[in-house]
Amino acid sequence: MTKKPQSFTELNYAQSSEFLLALGEPAYRVKQVAKWVYRNMAQDFAEMTDLPQGLRQKLSDSLKLHSISPAKQEIGRDGTVKTLFNLADGKTVETALMHYDPERGGERYTVCVSTQVGCAVGCPFCATGQQGFERNLTPGEIIDQVLYFARYLMEKKNGSSGKHVSNVVFMGMGEPLANYDNLWRAIEMLNSPEAFGLGARNMVISTAGLVPQIKRLAKEKLQVGLAISLHAADNALRNKLVPLNRRYPLEQLIPACREYIEVKGKRLSFEYALFRGVNASIGHARALADLIGGLKCHINLIAANVTADPAFQPPPRQVILAFEDELKRLHLNVTLRERRGQDINAGCGQLRSQFLKNKER
Ligand code: SF4
Repeated sequence: MTKKPQSFTELNYAQSSEFLLALGEPAYRVKQVAKWVYRNMAQDFAEMTDLPQGLRQKLSDSLKLHSISPAKQEIGRDGTVKTLFNLADGKTVETALMHYDPERGGERYTVCVSTQVGCAVGCPFCATGQQGFERNLTPGEIIDQVLYFARYLMEKKNGSSGKHVSNVVFMGMGEPLANYDNLWRAIEMLNSPEAFGLGARNMVISTAGLVPQIKRLAKEKLQVGLAISLHAADNALRNKLVPLNRRYPLEQLIPACREYIEVKGKRLSFEYALFRGVNASIGHARALADLIGGLKCHINLIAANVTADPAFQPPPRQVILAFEDELKRLHLNVTLRERRGQDINAGCGQLRSQFLKNKER
C-alpha cells in the first residue's frame, strides 16, 4: 500500500486484508473488524471486544476508524434529520435521513448522501450549486455518511424493530457521476454481504445528465437505480436550470437514457422540480410527455423548496396538481413527492450555506 489510508472505511475488502497482513495479523481478522464496522456500527477500535487488546491498540495507532465527524444536526417536525459533517481537511458536507411512513407503502429510512464538496454543475436554484466545486469525496467519506445514520438508528431503536437504513440515495451535495470511481467503490462496500450488505436495488444514483457516465453505468453488473434530474423538456430552459445541458443537450441525454433502459432491462426515474412561473404550466407538462413518453420510466414531481430566491419558488398547490393530472392524462407514470424537512434547511446545501455564512461573520 503506497499511501497511508485516512480511515478503515477507505479500504475495500482486499485492501483491509493487505493492511492487517502488514500489521502481522492473519487475514481472518478482516471479517471480525468488518463486522464491527459495518454491522455493529463501532465508532472506535476500543469497542471491538473480541479482538486482542494488542491488535486494537495497533489498529488505533495506525489509522482512524471513520473519515467524518458530525458538526451540527437539525431535526425537522416530520422526523427528517440533517447533519453537517466535518472532513479531515476542515471542509464540510451535509447528509439527510428521511423517515417514510409505514402507512405509505412500508416504513423506510432513506439516507441522502453527498458525493462531492460543492458542485460544478451550478444549477441556479440549488444552494450547493452556488458554493462552487471544491473536491470529490473519498469512498470512506461517502460510506461513513451511511454508517453514521445506521448507528443513529441503532441507538434510537430502544427495542423496537425495523429501524435501520433501508435505502440510500446519492442525491446530496455534488454530481455523483462526476466522482464515478469513488462512488462506485463506496457502492460496492455498501452492497457487499461481507460489509454493509444493502441491496443494490435499494440504492439510487441521481445525475444532472453526464452522458458518458450514464453509458458506463449501464454496463455495471449491480442493479443500482438511476434518476435523471430533468427539470425542463426543452434545451433553452434546461440550459438555464441545469447548465450541464449545454454540454450534453437533450438530443444526447434522452438517447443515453433509452440505451440505459435497454441494456439494464429496467426503468429509470426522471426528477422534475416544479418552479412557479418557470416550468410548471400545462404546456410544460405536455412538452415533458412528448419528450419522454414511450420510455420505460417513472417521473417524480417535486415542488421546489422555499428559499430566499424569489426566482425559484414552489408553485401554488393547484398548479402542481394540474401538472400531475396532465401527465397522468397523457399516460405517464408519475408520483408527486412530498417535501421533506421544510423547517430545517431541507434543500441540498442549505444547511452548509448557513454554516459557511455564520463562519464568515
Ligand atoms: S442540483 Fe445537484 S447537480 Fe445541480 S448544482 Fe445542486 S448538487 Fe449540483
